[in-house]
Amino acid sequence: MKALQYRTIGAAPEVVTVPDPEPGPGQVLLKVTAAGVCHSDIAVMSWPAEGFPYELPLTLGHEGVGTVVALGAGASGVREGDAVAVYGPWGCGTCVKCAEGKENYCLRAEKLRIFPPGLGRPGSMAEYLLVDDPRHLVPLEGLDPVAAVPLTDAGLTPYHAVKRALPKLVPGTTAVVIGAGGLGHVAVQLLRALTPARVVALDVSEDKLRLAREVGAHETVLSDAAAAGAVREITGGVGAEAVFDFVGAEPTVATAAAVAAVEGDISIVGIAGAALPVGFGHLPFEVSVSSPYWGSRSELIEVLALARSGAVSVHTETFSLDDAPLAYERLHAGTISGRAVIVPNG
Ligand code: NAD
Ligand code: ZN
Ligand code: ZN
Repeated sequence: MKALQYRTIGAAPEVVTVPDPEPGPGQVLLKVTAAGVCHSDIAVMSWPAEGFPYELPLTLGHEGVGTVVALGAGASGVREGDAVAVYGPWGCGTCVKCAEGKENYCLRAEKLRIFPPGLGRPGSMAEYLLVDDPRHLVPLEGLDPVAAVPLTDAGLTPYHAVKRALPKLVPGTTAVVIGAGGLGHVAVQLLRALTPARVVALDVSEDKLRLAREVGAHETVLSDAAAAGAVREITGGVGAEAVFDFVGAEPTVATAAAVAAVEGDISIVGIAGAALPVGFGHLPFEVSVSSPYWGSRSELIEVLALARSGAVSVHTETFSLDDAPLAYERLHAGTISGRAVIVPNG
């Protein structure tokens, strides 16, 4: 089959031919109907050889949706022909976090070297995808594959972050979304669907700010040195009760700190590597700062249900598998509106 692989440190990913995978005991084989392009892959492909955590070549794609085409011995719970979304952050399935459905925070994944597809294990940017266990699959139940696939990360990750902040986002409050790209433009919609908060989106690109307004942001602010002042003004000086930073770079965490309200929540979701000092006098009183990773199995079920209700719709641009390298180039250049989706069997 054809697959998009990251093969050489620092080089662009390549479309290559690899053996068709066969499901072993307990595994499920999917014919991939859609695979999402995440900025985290660009970060992975920028990491140096020293300390690189995965084996190369690596088939990319940690957002995946497909049709069940074969079950390994003993696998049950899904049937051939089922359309399913893949829960990506696989865990051991038995530790206390996994028992809660929080396989994203599995206590044993690192020790057991359990990796998500596309982030260590062969990913969804291929004609077929092997899934280790049927519990990682959620039925699409009518959702379109291309529309649904970004929900497995660009939907699930902000859903998890927003859900944590819900108690703070009562009427009269403000939520700030920094970075209105794949994750951010879904975050805006989640905030509108789940909270009465005023939503302010920040980005460096006017096109992304336009998209943020289209999907429900009440206000948009260009993300520069004056942005924090502008957000403070919008909130009458109070600041934002929740800030979601989908960049995580020095200037954006600085903005997040500068716009947070007393008792506010700051979620640093972007992985650009910046840190925020927490300590008396550094931030407004009782601000909480967290760096969440992906979301739980039940949250994926919830976010798909929300999409089925019509409350969330991801803006997508589709590419063939042959054009997948171009999708990464465009994402890197900042010219993807919403999420790029690869259709490997299109
Ligand atoms: P994306 O490229 O689609 O979106 C990023 C957006 O940020 C773009 O619209 C870009 O214009 C904007 N931006 C860049 N610099 C900015 C600045 N200084 N101020 C404001 N906006 C700025 O990327 P994505 O796929 O949505 O991913 C967003 C981030 O989240 C990435 O760092 C990615 O690695 C990370 N991520 C984290 C998790 C997690 O579990 N923590 C999961 C998925 C993605
Ligand atoms: Zn991702
Ligand atoms: Zn576990």
